[in-house]
Amino acid sequence: MKYVIVIPDGCADDPCPALGGKTPLQAARLPNIDRLATLGVCGLTNNVPHPLTPASDVATLSLFGYDPLEVYTGRAPLEAAALGVALGPADWAIRCNFVHVPDGHMRDFTSGHISSEEGGQLVEALREILPAGFDLTPGVGYRNLLAYRGETGPIFADDVTTQPPHDIPDQPVDRYLPRGTGSDVLRDIMARSRTVLADHPVNVARRAAGKKDATQVWLWGQGRAPTLEQFDRKYGPRGAITTGVDLVRGVGALLGWDRLEAPGITDYIDTDYAAQARLAIDHLDRYDLICVHVEAPDEASHAGLVEEKVKSLEQIDAHIVGPILDALPKFGDWRMLVSPDHRTPLTTRAHSYGAVPYAAGGAGIASGGPVQYDEEHAQRGPAFDPGWQLMPWLLNK
Ligand SMILES: [Zn+2]
Repeated sequence: MKYVIVIPDGCADDPCPALGGKTPLQAARLPNIDRLATLGVCGLTNNVPHPLTPASDVATLSLFGYDPLEVYTGRAPLEAAALGVALGPADWAIRCNFVHVPDGHMRDFTSGHISSEEGGQLVEALREILPAGFDLTPGVGYRNLLAYRGETGPIFADDVTTQPPHDIPDQPVDRYLPRGTGSDVLRDIMARSRTVLADHPVNVARRAAGKKDATQVWLWGQGRAPTLEQFDRKYGPRGAITTGVDLVRGVGALLGWDRLEAPGITDYIDTDYAAQARLAIDHLDRYDLICVHVEAPDEASHAGLVEEKVKSLEQIDAHIVGPILDALPKFGDWRMLVSPDHRTPLTTRAHSYGAVPYAAGGAGIASGGPVQYDEEHAQRGPAFDPGWQLMPWLLNK
């Protein structure tokens, strides 16, 4: 049996006044996803249990059949997996952003979207001041990853709390510094980074060019390495994933899925949809399960772009779901699932809690009759809450 999972990230929404009271899924023409839903079923699944935060890390773990309440340890460890940074059971991963705090306030959590090349030079300088056991890996742009090797004994504890810098725009940063047992080592790295970075040539050049400089690092999102059973051991199928998002790559890596990459695949609405479908179809002979994750609808929601969100859904339908549905019978028995991870309503432009519609069909899934893939029709189909139970159902486990 071959399985394909297509994730239109954040596609689930509320009725929009700009769409005459329809949701983007209702406004979009989706003949292929409707075909899949009619072949099988369209129902609801809930991937974000309280008190976890709605985001793709928690929600894709659930979609892939893992109870996030059991396995989720934080965002940074998943990004470590995407960067290929190995973590032992005693180790921690911590997000390390270059931020712009010129006056004690969080003025820009991206340091004016500092480039990866500039960031890499700053990382080199910062390595000099790190205490023993800490290691810094450069990431993309302003995002880096700090690892703490805990074999020498834990110097900070599970009660440490940190603050995502994008959630405190223009706030005084003093109120949001790391707290809890051993958090002084994190506060100390942040304070010392100010001195190292102040007159670094990269920052001098940025200021001269009228750009925002990286005044310090901001540490947040810490977590220990999760202990996930590999997907093929837990469920059987050998998997691979295509995505433009590091965080989702990290989830795939932890599951033991191979990474399918091609030029033109991005985490934005300009992504090459057809290239992702081709990757999936070209690799179906080598894998039992392929996941195609598309970030575009989520990005359109964050940007508040109603038309773009509708368009991205139609692109996914025409260039991904359609060709894959047509190709699957060549490989024998198959099942296909289309489901977003979480909701991202255009009204709030932020992720939200709540169930999302899925469509699933293929061998052995009885048709529930003609149905359209949207939030309303999904309310009448089979529901999964908690959502992690959908995957074992799809795989007949
Ligand atoms: Zn998002």
